[in-house]
Amino acid sequence: MLPLPTAFCERLVRELGADGAQALCASLDTPSPTAVRHHPLKGEGAPEGEPIPWSSRGRYLSERPSFTLDPRFHAGAYYVQEASSQFVGCLLRGEAMAGKRLLDLCAAPGGKSTLYASLVGPEGLVVANEVDRRRVQILADNVRKWGMGNVVVTTNRAEDFEPLAEWFDVVAVDAPCSGEGMFRRLPESREEWSEGAVERCSAIQREILASAWQALKPGGVLIYSTCTFNRTEDEEVLADFVACTEGELEAVEPVSQAEEWGIVTGEVGPFRTYRFYPHRARGEGFFAAVVRKAGEPKASRGRDRRLKSQVAPVDKREQQELARWIEEPEQMRFYRAGELLYAVRSTHYEELERLSGTLRVIYAGVAMGEIFKGKLKPDGALALYVGLRRGVLPAAELSEPDALEYLRKGDLRADLFEEGLNLVLFEGHALGFAKRIGGRVNNLYPNSLRIVNK
Ligand code: SAM
Repeated sequence: MLPLPTAFCERLVRELGADGAQALCASLDTPSPTAVRHHPLKGEGAPEGEPIPWSSRGRYLSERPSFTLDPRFHAGAYYVQEASSQFVGCLLRGEAMAGKRLLDLCAAPGGKSTLYASLVGPEGLVVANEVDRRRVQILADNVRKWGMGNVVVTTNRAEDFEPLAEWFDVVAVDAPCSGEGMFRRLPESREEWSEGAVERCSAIQREILASAWQALKPGGVLIYSTCTFNRTEDEEVLADFVACTEGELEAVEPVSQAEEWGIVTGEVGPFRTYRFYPHRARGEGFFAAVVRKAGEPKASRGRDRRLKSQVAPVDKREQQELARWIEEPEQMRFYRAGELLYAVRSTHYEELERLSGTLRVIYAGVAMGEIFKGKLKPDGALALYVGLRRGVLPAAELSEPDALEYLRKGDLRADLFEEGLNLVLFEGHALGFAKRIGGRVNNLYPNSLRIVNK
């Protein structure tokens, strides 16, 4: 095991005392628990295990299976998410979350965004933003796989949200940090840590928080989290924020929790804080804080669009063809963005126009596909969408070896499918589409997602 950085250990002794530091350091050389979070609508058959006490759909697994070789994983039946980080759902338990508009400012790879998408439900909207252009693609893949249809993925800097002042009911900042909480699960991260990184991260965290605050409605809730232990990036960042926003903050109700969960609670002004130390709680190092913006919600402010909206309407025939594929077409509005046709809940259409006129939108709602000669050539994302109308095409239920071959984008026997387009299932979970033409099968699983070398 790589040694822990000396300056990190010295910091721990200063912040936790010698005994606390020793217990924490010892825990960093023990195995990490493996945890998953089940999908609320597609979670059947997802790996079972001991419940995570602070996460109703969270489970500890007794061992780490090969998730890549589990077709349910590719169907979005569950998300592999570290146990402590699932706690952010608890911070919103006191809020009526259904239908809320939530901004996740630092979202990739999407663990918390998918959790928030489930919390706000189909009538709510999550804007999942990731500044890094490579990581945002992974975020978009995970959002497609989760299949709620209520997420807009953007790739912008935090300050680009300035035109959307006071627009969101909840803003979450899962800040880039020095990553001390990863020292156990990813020992190589120990080599990347330095005092300089702590200082640099804390400066970035302050900037992101300031943008987050602007975007939050009065009466709304701000969540700040990091996966690091040190106070410089946690309490001190919050203390400075409190000093700058005096009188604008209100405490929320504390999360009710059991002593044996091992979470260390605290306060920074009106912020309630929750810290996970691996020697006390069953999860990785994590820090989360929550506060409310004082005041009453009002009609959202914000400047007019700066960019031309990238969203265009579809014509009547296209509309009719697309409507066939959706369970509740009357709730949806279809639109075109570039080559692809998409669906979004009608109530979100104006919000999407506004967002796409302001930000770089990578993905929004559900990608439906393209229409050729009046017929939809469906996008893989549509198979994963919870609102797909299953009866619209024949379904081919595959065995596990065949399902894995499908996910490798391999060749499949024609007799498994009906002639024409099929929905590919494994134990009832939709994986994607395939087309049989006589004795030949066209495997339509997206190239970019196929399992390689397994
Ligand atoms: N919330 C994610 C999840 O639960 O899966 C994890 C987010 S990770 C802790 C922090 C993210 O912030 C990274 O994806 C990183 O690329 C992004 N980031 C880095 N610098 C940033 C900045 N200056 N502004 C906004 N985000 C930044």
